[in-house]
Formats: sequence, C-alpha cells, structure tokens
Amino acid sequence: MFADLHLHSRFSDGTYAPEELVSLGQRLGLAALALTDHDTMEGCAAMAAASKSAGMEFISGIELTAEHNEYELHILGYALDPENAKLLTAIAKFQGVRQNRIREMVTRLNEHEIPLRAEEVFDLANCRAPGRPHVARALVKGGHCASFDEAFERFLKKNRPAWVPKFKMSAARAIELIHQAGGVAALAHPGLNRTDDVIPELVEAGLDGLECFHTKHSASATQRYLKMAKDYRVLVTGGSDCHGSSKGKPLIGTVKLPYEYVEKLKQRQVESLNR
Ligand code: AMP
Ligand code: FE
Ligand code: FE
Ligand code: ZN
Repeated sequence: MFADLHLHSRFSDGTYAPEELVSLGQRLGLAALALTDHDTMEGCAAMAAASKSAGMEFISGIELTAEHNEYELHILGYALDPENAKLLTAIAKFQGVRQNRIREMVTRLNEHEIPLRAEEVFDLANCRAPGRPHVARALVKGGHCASFDEAFERFLKKNRPAWVPKFKMSAARAIELIHQAGGVAALAHPGLNRTDDVIPELVEAGLDGLECFHTKHSASATQRYLKMAKDYRVLVTGGSDCHGSSKGKPLIGTVKLPYEYVEKLKQRQVESLNR
C-alpha cells in the first residue's frame, strides 16, 4: 500500500479539481492522499467528500511558504483542522499578500510593454491563493509568451523583471500555526532548498517530519534525508508535488510513500493532541 502526500489542486497552482485527484489516485491504486495547496485549505472539504465516496483515505494538508535565515523553505501541515480560526485568519492574510503581489507583478509587466491586466490573472486563477504560475498561464493565454516556461524565463523567475519577492512568515511561526491547528509539520522537498544545515534548528522549533520522497530528489538525496529523519527521530513523508499533468502525464502516484509512514504520521498527530 502506498500514499501520495503532496498534491496541488486548482485552489492553488494545480490544474486538477480535488475530485479529479481522487479519481486519478483511485485508478493508480493509492491507499491515501493528502491535498497540500499553497496557503489555502479551500479544496480539503471537496477532496474529503470525494475520497470518502471512493473508499480512500484522505489527509487534510497545506503548504506554507516560510523562511529561516533568509532562505525560503516550504512547510507542509498535515491532519490539521481546516476550520481552525487562527489558521484561517493567518492564511487569509497570506492570500491577501499573494493578491497584492499579482497586481505588482502585472504593473511591472505593463512597464515592460506587456498589456496584461490583473483581472485576467484573477479570472484565470479563480482562487484565493494566486501565484506566479497563474501569471505565466495568463501570459501564454494573452499571446505574450509562447510557453509557460518562457514566461518564467523571461519575466517571473527570481530577479527577472516581473519577479516580486513575497512576504514570508518565519519557519517557527509556520510550525506553531500548524501545531495549534492540531496538525503535524514536515519540511517540504529539503533537497530543493538550501536547508540541510538548518534542519536541526527546525527540529528544535518543533518540526515533526522531513519529506524524504519527492519527485525532484535523487536516490542519494532520498537516502540522505531518510537517514536524517532517523537520526533526528522525525517522521518520513513523501509525495509527487503534482501540479497537474506534466509532459502529458499526471505526476500523482509517481512518488510512492509506503503506507507504514502514514500510520506513523497519524500516531504522531494523536500523540500531539494528547500532549
Ligand atoms: P509563487 O508561490 O507565486 O512564488 O509561485 C511558486 C510556484 O511557481 C511553485 O510552486 C512552482 O509551482 C512554480 N515555479 C517556480 N519556479 C518555476 C520555474 N522556474 N518554472 C516553472 N514553474 C515554476
Ligand atoms: Fe506550486
Ligand atoms: Fe513547495
Ligand atoms: Zn508543493
């Protein structure tokens, strides 16, 4: 039995509806799925309902953008209460930050003779947590760029003309927000960020797990993080980080987390609630 605990839906920058993720997961024979949209849990209710009908296990989740020592890192929250008031207030603020950032990116594009309007991006995104991928898609749709990748290369990558830095909470704050909502916190794709040296500090701040299995981790990176998780006695998580279909194939299920790690995650969550 396997799980995929890192999935995005169209409530953030993925292209699938939560229900589509469930039917794809079911077809692949996955036992459990988690939805980890950036800065929002709006899709969790629909995905929980669809999973229930499909007889699959669902774990609510979120992916928060945070920073530590000026490095960006992503913190995954699992099995948290999607109705938690403090969490909802905090993420509403981050959603507002994202919306203002879209307006700023569009202003910069306009200064570079690209006549895009913020409304075009918002209409296409149709969600509360819009991001750069929506701007990229709007640039392609409006005929301003030939492809999604070109949009990032020309305008949206770090230090390109329309790149706007995003306000980030501290990693400790992200972990605390997840904990107070009854969830467990894991460091997303450590192999993609320069975070190895800060993992001990994050564990000290309450981090519960490391995403050892990820699409962009090499076999040796996976082994390194599995060893770290063991040494620091934290959970092992993993998932595909599916944002939709890539090169014609959905990424969901391409990273298979053995189900025993889902059991451990649930145990840890129950223990923390009793603490
Ligand atoms: P944002 O949160 O608005 O900064 O957007 C970050 C998202 O953009 C990531 O989660 C990826 O989905 C996507 N992304 C970031 N860099 C690139 C890139 N160079 N090419 C394509 N997609 C990217
Ligand atoms: Fe993303
Ligand atoms: Fe991420
Ligand atoms: Zn992600």
